This record gives sequence, C-alpha cells and structure tokens, in this order.
Amino acid sequence: MRTSLTASHVFYRKYDYPLPLIVRAAGPYLFDEHGKRYLDGSGGAMVCNIGHGVGAIADAIADQARSVAYINGTAFTSPPVEALADLLTTKAPPGLDRAYFLSSGSEAVEAALKLARHYHVASGEPQRRYVIAQTPGYHGNTLLALAASARTSYRTVFDPWLLDVLMIDAPYPYRRTLDEHAPASALEAAILAAGPENVAAFIAEPIGGSSTGASVPPPGYFAHVREICDRYGVLFVCDEVLTGAGRTGTYFAIEHFRDAAGQTVVPDILTMGKGLNGGYAPLSAFLTREAIVERIRASGANFMHAQTYSHHPLSAAAALAVQRYIDENALVERARTLGAVLGATLQRMRKTLPSDAAAIVGDIRGIGMLWALEFVADRTTRAPFPRADHFAERFVETAKRLGLVLWPNTGHAGGDGDLVMIAPPFTITPAQIDELVGLLREAIIATVTGRGQA
Ligand code: PLP
Repeated sequence: MRTSLTASHVFYRKYDYPLPLIVRAAGPYLFDEHGKRYLDGSGGAMVCNIGHGVGAIADAIADQARSVAYINGTAFTSPPVEALADLLTTKAPPGLDRAYFLSSGSEAVEAALKLARHYHVASGEPQRRYVIAQTPGYHGNTLLALAASARTSYRTVFDPWLLDVLMIDAPYPYRRTLDEHAPASALEAAILAAGPENVAAFIAEPIGGSSTGASVPPPGYFAHVREICDRYGVLFVCDEVLTGAGRTGTYFAIEHFRDAAGQTVVPDILTMGKGLNGGYAPLSAFLTREAIVERIRASGANFMHAQTYSHHPLSAAAALAVQRYIDENALVERARTLGAVLGATLQRMRKTLPSDAAAIVGDIRGIGMLWALEFVADRTTRAPFPRADHFAERFVETAKRLGLVLWPNTGHAGGDGDLVMIAPPFTITPAQIDELVGLLREAIIATVTGRGQA
C-alpha cells in the first residue's frame, strides 16, 4: 500500500508527513498496518461516542444497504429517517419537533442559518440579514459556516468571499473574567449597533468545543441570551454539532442551562453532527420548531435548501442504531460519571509532573467526556507560546508516536494559543482512562524535554 507522500495519489489535508495506514479499529483503539495500537483519546474529531467496531451498527448499515440505500429526499421518505426524527425530537428540548438531515456539521450550520434567513423573509422582514457569532468559536468550513467562525487560520485565504458576520466575545473563563450576564449583554449591544430590525440570528456553541477548549459558560448565560433574542426577534441557533448526543454528560449541552423557572433554555434551531452518527456514516441534522417550518410553508414556499444526500436512509439507519446503542447502554450517564473520573485523573496527573512539564499546563477543564488542556509559556500571566513554536502540533505528533490520538487547537489566545482536546468514546473503561492519562503525561514530558521531536 502506498502511503508515502510521493507515492500516493491521495490529496492529503496536510502534506508534511506520511499518515499511518489504519486497517482495524475496536473499542477505543485503532491499529495500523504494522500492528501498532493507538488509543483514540479524542474519538477522531470528537466523533466516536460509542467507540469503534460495534457489530450492531455494522449490521444495521448492512440491512439498510440491502433494503434501500438511497432515495431522493425531496421525493420520498424512509423508515430510518422517520424513526430517527421521532427519536431526536423526543430527546430535544420541548418544541423542537422537526428534524432535517444532511451529511456534515458545516452543512447543518449552513442550512440552519439559511433557515433563519428564510423564516424572516417569509415573515415579511427581508431586511434581517446579519448573523451574530462568537469569538473564539467554530461552526464549520463551508463559506457561511466559516464566516460565522472566528478561526483566522481557516479564514485568511477566503476572506474576500466571507459574509460580514458580527462577532461578540465567547464565554472563556480562563482568559476573561466574566459575570453571569456580561457576554450576553455584549449580544444586546451588537444587536442594537446593527439595528435590531436587521439581525437574523445569533449562533453559539452551548459549551465550547475546540475553539475555547471545553469552556463552560456561566449558568445564567443562555437564559439571558434567550431573553435578548426574544426581545429583538432574533433566532437563537444552538450549535451542538460537537456536544450533541451526550458528549457533555447530558444528551444536549443546552440542558445544562436553565431559566429562572428551572426549565431548559430552548433554542429556535439546534444543529447536530459528529456524535449523532458516531463516525459510522456521515450524517448531521438540525432540529427546529414547527412554527418556523409553518411560517415558510404559509408563505407559499418550500425551504430553499436541498442537497443530493439530505435525508439519506443508510446514514439515518446508522445514526438510529448508534442512538439506540447509546440508550440501551446508558452511555450518556456513563459519559457523565466516567467523565468525572477522567477529569479527576487528569487533575491528579498534573500534580505528578516534573516541574518543567507542570509549568506549561495552564489549565485542565471540562465536563462530561469533553476535556481540554491549555498549554502556556507562563502559568502566572497565562501568556501563550508564540504560534511559531507550534507547540500543540508538536505535542499531538509526540502523543501519536507514543500511541495516543488527541485533537489540537491553536490561535484562541489572540492568534497564539495551544490546547488539546481529550474526548474519548463514552465506552472507555477506568483502566483505559488510566492508560490514556499515563500516555498524555509521557507526551507532555517528552514534548517539553524535546524528546518528542521527530
Ligand atoms: N460546529 C461545531 C461546533 C464543530 O465543532 C464543527 C466541527 O468541528 C462543525 C460545526 C463543522 O462540522 P463538520 O466538520 O462535520 O463540517
């Protein structure tokens, strides 16, 4: 098999190193062609919530491929699509009773924002065009989703093509002091500055993904966001592409946020991806209110967003089997309880680091099975390493050489900044958590001492 950079015909996303050829995966482990074992400590890109190689999912996919693999989602519907929509709308915050299916998280975000705009046009407010998003924040790589993403390195080349999305500060306690309402008040200020009659939607991750490394907003934040959006007729799009399907220890991360009456804050549109399909077949979704769909229908229009692979039966069958597996094995609960064990093990490990290694671990934070380590050049001032050091990239390459897969992120501290996400499958065992944290410790020490260099 040709995997060297010059011999392969694959256009790899990064072309400065050869990629291991993975030939088998089981539970939290990947195996390459030489039999080397990797512990998948981030479930790829925070995707593999139930682990690899689950036979029940393979069976469901095979059965669906034999019966109906594909139909045109505009002309027909199918049993797995209907059943998955029933299941997700039952789990969703009350009132989110329609589900629309696509393939990737970016597509779900793109479609969710288009839905918000279409709703306003159908409501006789075609001037509502602005989207407000958060910085740091990430919503995807297609052009509208990218315009809503404060990730400079992804944006620079395409800048002339990106719409003008307004940005407010994301809740990021490690790098900003904040009270319950300050960031949400920034939302109100942005709406007023743009003119409330011109604003279509506010999009936010309920708990930070890789952009703010598992940062949790203060408890009252989203109730305040909801109030402000209601006050100005702005739709609240909650991006649960990374957090949905149990990652933070509740089925949806927005469930961590309650209003004054103790009720879950309900967004107008909620996006899902990653954990929805657990990596078994590409599938994303957005959920929304019947009233929003009805407004568009009453205007005499259909929702103007169609894609060849929307409402795909095979992908829906895979996702349905993944979600049933999560339910049958109480995996959301497991993400909550074992996630706490993972967090405690990470904090204990920090205390065992030699002083030069401990000095660069600025923060360890997280919730459920979503954790992050933020690396710093100076723990007192929280000053980041200069970006030119590529600390996070060197760290994950070192970890990979040691047999541990993690997800890096950079640029969140004013262009600099290095963090790493730890987000294993919910099925990980306590012994495998110890193995993961042990390898992570080794990787920190090796990167600091330079032993991690290729
Ligand atoms: N939204 C969030 C919060 C994400 O974390 C991501 C991907 O990391 C996306 C959207 C985009 O999803 P995808 O990469 O599947 O297009």
